[in-house]
Amino acid sequence: MEVLNDIVFQVDMDTLLARLHIDKKSEDAKDIQHLLQSAASICKPKTIYEVSYIQDKGHNTVNIGGVIFTSRVLRVNLDKVERVFLYVATCGRELDEIVATTDDFMKQFWLDTIKEMALGSSIKYLDDYLKRKYALGQVSKMNPGSGAKDLWPIEEQKQLFSIFGNVKDLIGVELTDSFLMVPNKSVSGIYFPTEIRFESCQLCPREVCPGRKAPYDKNLLETYYRDRI
Ligand code: SF4
Repeated sequence: MEVLNDIVFQVDMDTLLARLHIDKKSEDAKDIQHLLQSAASICKPKTIYEVSYIQDKGHNTVNIGGVIFTSRVLRVNLDKVERVFLYVATCGRELDEIVATTDDFMKQFWLDTIKEMALGSSIKYLDDYLKRKYALGQVSKMNPGSGAKDLWPIEEQKQLFSIFGNVKDLIGVELTDSFLMVPNKSVSGIYFPTEIRFESCQLCPREVCPGRKAPYDKNLLETYYRDRI
């Protein structure tokens, strides 16, 4: 297991304003500039990962490092895989200190976007780090709770977190009783090598989603349930 906490948070002001749909010359832009400066001075994105090996596979289960995960889609995606990388990445808890000092709804919304971009820095760092350190080729990811309901149930965050032990002590992320993560801009999942790139979005029918990475393929899901393995 390795903790990566030396991640530089660099946000370009133009990119932030574009995401917020704010005019560069507006008064809001000045407030956002101040907010970003404060945020950048304390923000510490972090991530943790573990290299694990698949020990066993059932019809819709996979035993990874002694922990059983249940998802037919995960099972099929890992059919020819032996080594995987489990991870939790986060924007860090530091920005919640600023959130707690304001009840201004707009500021909270801007901060949430900054937190999202900090999480993006964390994920990008981990992507690059794993590819470099383990000489990985093409990889795909799956995340509990991502995509259509039951693709890989969000409750499986519990098993995933159990691989790491006390994730709160390690990188400040904890699970609520409903298996959401705190800080809210955190993500957990599994990287695996793949010949054909997989995105949960391919199996997600949500019509409007700014985060969509691949078109919905309404025929793809049934291919996972054909009795091919
Ligand atoms: S379309 Fe949006 S909600 Fe659905 S899996 Fe992709 S990012 Fe998630």
